[in-house]
This record gives sequence, C-alpha cells and structure tokens, in this order.
Amino acid sequence: ANGKVTIDQIEPLSKKSFPLCMRQLQESLKQEHHLRHWGRMQYGLFLKGIGVMLEDALRFWRAEFSKKIDPDKFDKSYSYNIRHNYGKEGKRADYTPYSCMKIIMTNPPANGDFHGCPFRHSDAGLLRQRLASYGVSKDGVNEVMGLVSNSHYQLACAKYFDLTHNVEASTIGINHPNQYFDESQKILN
Ligand code: SF4
Repeated sequence: ANGKVTIDQIEPLSKKSFPLCMRQLQESLKQEHHLRHWGRMQYGLFLKGIGVMLEDALRFWRAEFSKKIDPDKFDKSYSYNIRHNYGKEGKRADYTPYSCMKIIMTNPPANGDFHGCPFRHSDAGLLRQRLASYGVSKDGVNEVMGLVSNSHYQLACAKYFDLTHNVEASTIGINHPNQYFDESQKILN
C-alpha cells in the first residue's frame, strides 16, 4: 500500500501485478457481475490494501454489480459490508487483508465461488490452462505444477511470480497477496 489506486487502474494492474488469486476474482467479477460473500471479502480487503479508497471501492463494486441488479439493491444489500471492511460500520475495526495462510487454510471455495488460492483450490487441468493463457511457457507450467502436486502452494505462487516478472529464481517468498503486489510494483516501476 503506497499511493492511491484509482478505479481505472484496477483492471490493468490486475494483469501485471495481481497474484493469481486476485486476478481470478477480478476476472470473475467482470464476468459474473457478482461475487459471493467470501469473494467480496477476499478481494475487497485486498483492494483496500493496494490503496483503493472507500468511495472508489463503493463506486467500483456498484458499477459492476449494477450490470445485473438494481443499483438501489446494491446500496441496500452490499454497501454496508464494503463500508464495514473500511471500518466505517459496526465495530469500526480496521479489517486487514487476508494472508496466504488464511486463504489457503480457511473457507475453501464451493461451486460458484471464486475466492481461495488457485494453486490450492483449482482443478489441475484448469490451472494449467490458465497459466498457459497468461503467457507462462510449457516448461514454466510444468515447474509450477510440480510444486502444486507436492502441496507447495506458496512456492508455486513465487515461481509464477518469477516467470511472469522475468526474474530468475528470486528469493522472494510469498506469504501475502498484498506483499506479492508490492514486490511486483517494485520490479515494474
Ligand atoms: Fe494468492 Fe497467496 Fe495463493 Fe499466491 S499463494 S495465489 S498470493 S493466496
């Protein structure tokens, strides 16, 4: 979390600097015009962590959900939770974005959910396809999948980071999606 991130920057940033879990949520949100509870929590808190301000977050979610539901319904049913995540409602606690451990170990996604860690929760065939479609070479995909099959999900994520940032075997350990984002921005900016 450094500077402010505007709504327009979210989509391009998702392609360059989001870890797989968050890119998946961004793509699903665009496609479904909806995310279920844990997806909204995981993604919403991540966006807060990269510097999306509350008012922008409300506009961002409202714009996407309103492609499917009445904006009034959005305001009634969903805006409370977003304000809540920013500590503006309820206990006024400042909710922190989820770590990899939390995402990997708790609330596994059910059918129709898009949250979770793709390295842990995705079907292997789909994960392979997705990695290839994001430009990872065949050897790269095999390397990542080798780590996945040994349950080294965060190492697989770090390998994916290296492959997509053209760094050779970096020493970066990935333990938080927002840390992944910060490391990526450090390299790209
Ligand atoms: Fe996201 Fe962490 Fe999984 Fe990487 S290891 S995809 S950052 S949850």
